[in-house]
Amino acid sequence: MKHYPMIINGHAIDSHDRLSIVNPATSEVFATCARASEHHVDTAVHAAKMAFTDWSIRPDQERKALIHELGALIEEHKDELIELVVCETGKPVVGLGGVGATMEVMGASIWSHVTADINLPDEVIQDDETAYVAVTRKPLGVVASVTPWNWPLLIAIWHLIAAIRAGNTVVIKPSELTPLTTARFVQLANSVLPPGVLNIVMGAGDIGQRLTSAPAVNKVVFTGSTATGKRIMAAASNSLKRLVLELGGNDAAIVLPGSNLDRIASDIFAAAFHNNGQTCACLKRLYVHESQYGALCERLVAVARGLKIGNGLNPDIELGPIQNEAQRTIVENLVAAATREGGQILCGGKRIEGPGYFYEPTLVAGLTNGCELVDQEQFGPVLPIISYPSIKEAIRLANDSPNGLGGSVWGDDLAQAEEVGRQLECGTVWINGHGGVQPDAPFGGVKESGFGVEFGRFGLEECTSIQTVKIHRQ
Ligand code: NDP
Repeated sequence: MKHYPMIINGHAIDSHDRLSIVNPATSEVFATCARASEHHVDTAVHAAKMAFTDWSIRPDQERKALIHELGALIEEHKDELIELVVCETGKPVVGLGGVGATMEVMGASIWSHVTADINLPDEVIQDDETAYVAVTRKPLGVVASVTPWNWPLLIAIWHLIAAIRAGNTVVIKPSELTPLTTARFVQLANSVLPPGVLNIVMGAGDIGQRLTSAPAVNKVVFTGSTATGKRIMAAASNSLKRLVLELGGNDAAIVLPGSNLDRIASDIFAAAFHNNGQTCACLKRLYVHESQYGALCERLVAVARGLKIGNGLNPDIELGPIQNEAQRTIVENLVAAATREGGQILCGGKRIEGPGYFYEPTLVAGLTNGCELVDQEQFGPVLPIISYPSIKEAIRLANDSPNGLGGSVWGDDLAQAEEVGRQLECGTVWINGHGGVQPDAPFGGVKESGFGVEFGRFGLEECTSIQTVKIHRQ
């Protein structure tokens, strides 16, 4: 069975303690990795702190070239990484709407290349005979990254590439459920980067907390649940660490009256169900005008019934298993609550018996805000479809949530859709699409979906502090 060590200060570090990693399509252990102690975490943070001195002043062009090399390394090892993503997440090689392991790995490469080419030049405020005043961007120091199990490689890349591009050093702690792709990437990256610039510790229980509260850590970037994000924010106050918190969402989509349903039904379905709904910016609540409610429900049920579900290593498979049993239980409980609250199960509604954590894609009608399945993030293959009487009411229902990551409006009149979209309380709004992110446009949430953004110039700026330089000339 393959075993993956930690990487600290450029060295492979093993431990007596191991984590067993389960393939969610078979429920069987297929690999192991080293499990960090608190000492390992402290050693990794120290290594990152030591490496910062040289890395932070390394010429920008050299850092840029090294990050391009990381993007190339991912592509060179793509077959191995894709298989590893499928085995640890259950996500199919291609997947529904092409949103699968191949996209995750190739996206990681693209994000690296695009981020490598983003520059943060000085901004000159004054340049005359009395003074020169400029604003420059400086790296923060050691960045701690804690990543989730749904997109382990891509989210790791989102966290760490921007950090090191800006001159910081990193200690990453992946989810204990899916640490392997990140561990392999960090191993590859250390063949290119100086020791200590990028370190990885794997563990469960209290390793994340040890890392994110370490006094030498200057910034924490976390993607995961709101509850854990709040704990990280409280702990970060001890040394006033910078934070970027991407805490998932409960994204609403509004279908405007008079929409061409044949054109949008399968895109809406894919936006809700790709990766089995286990994406922070999946479409999670669908609001449909009462005049088209029945017709759209019918079309979505037809898409659900035609899906190919199974082990994602088979390239024809569109949906794999849910990533872990605990998440499958959350989904099951929400569907049970929906039934109690008067929801009608249009299709699905139960686990698929046999090995693996499979669950039928499930559509639920007849609910509204105030029902558990509508109010809570399901993070699984189940979608509540809610009827609304007026656009004003649809906007009210969409905004009636503590979350605010993304949102979307679907309709034939783009100007009307944009006008409605701009009224949604969320970090990104999509028109006739949902969840599409890109490496040069900022992405982040409002309200309890977190704060701070990733990607592009805005994301890179989050990895820096401002230094004002004033040169007196008289
Ligand atoms: P969590 O959000 O609880 O995150 C777990 C990770 O956070 C682990 O790596 C854990 O490490 C670390 N952690 C836990 N407590 C702390 C702390 N106090 N300080 C620092 N790190 C900490 O994820 P779960 O896997 O439990 O998922 C729960 C829910 O989160 C899901 O049901 C889903 O709704 C949502 N989710 C959202 C995602 C998104 O993309 N936004 C992704 C995945 C899940 P350690 O065990 O070592 O402490």
